[in-house]
Amino acid sequence: MTETPSDRAQVATDAESAFMTLSHDLRLEILLALWDAPGYSLSFSELRKAVGERDSGSFTYHLSKLEGHFVAKIDDGYELQYPGHRVLDAIQSGVFHEQVSVGPVQLDEDCRACGESLTFEYDTDSIARIRCPDCGNRALEWPFDPGGIADRDADATVAAFDRRTRLIWTCALDGVCPFCAGRIDPDLTDRVHEDGACIGVIEQLDRYEEYFADDHPVVVSVDCERCSFYSFLPAGVALLTRPAVTGRLHEAGIDVRGTPLWDLGFVVDSEAVTVEQRDPLRVEISVVDAEEPLAFTLDASVETVTEYT
Ligand SMILES: [Zn+2]
Ligand SMILES: [Zn+2]
Repeated sequence: MTETPSDRAQVATDAESAFMTLSHDLRLEILLALWDAPGYSLSFSELRKAVGERDSGSFTYHLSKLEGHFVAKIDDGYELQYPGHRVLDAIQSGVFHEQVSVGPVQLDEDCRACGESLTFEYDTDSIARIRCPDCGNRALEWPFDPGGIADRDADATVAAFDRRTRLIWTCALDGVCPFCAGRIDPDLTDRVHEDGACIGVIEQLDRYEEYFADDHPVVVSVDCERCSFYSFLPAGVALLTRPAVTGRLHEAGIDVRGTPLWDLGFVVDSEAVTVEQRDPLRVEISVVDAEEPLAFTLDASVETVTEYT
């Protein structure tokens, strides 16, 4: 299915009216009250009492606006629906209204460039940063929702950041947008022309120069065809999800699950990635921490990972 500009205009209008539906305090309070209720449902009078609305006409009006999509009328009351849950989930992620910061917290892992201890830091721009305070090495930087920090101590926050980043990266690399479920065609992107100039979309992004993988010769471009999600991932992420590959890594002494992303050399070290062939692009990813020489090749579509022999 290909969307035309008029399709997109219609989608924008429909989405706008859905957002407008939520533009009144009382409507969000209704969703919150149903979320708090056993079975996510309440009778009309329980719901009205829960939100503390005295004006019956006003309450009925606002409830009717949510009915049919965010809230369903059931036999003895009203029940929260999937879109209502998703609205609450988005609020609870904290990205719209929370401004928190953490650290710097010293980590157990050392900088792969100089050997000093790495630190985790989270700032109000919603980016988590694993850095070396000594040499300035950007080991890993990625957005993280404030919801990941609430109710966790520093160690648990760092572990959650590793898990969630891994989940987003591997989902995007498998062609599914981790945010809207839309389509993504991952593509190996040769970062630098032979004349040294950056190519394509990377060239247009000033901030890419500040990206943690900006020294990698090749990155994987992931750009959702439906929502605003786009990013560039280290090519080594492709080694994290194939059983044949993770099995070989295990044999070579690499614990891909127990080692945080920022300590997996084949993911974060620029020297691990070598362009083996251009047109079509193919890269070699060497597993620098393996107990034996081990490397894999990755094709341009990021579909095929084979052991390099
Ligand atoms: Zn360092
Ligand atoms: Zn998307």
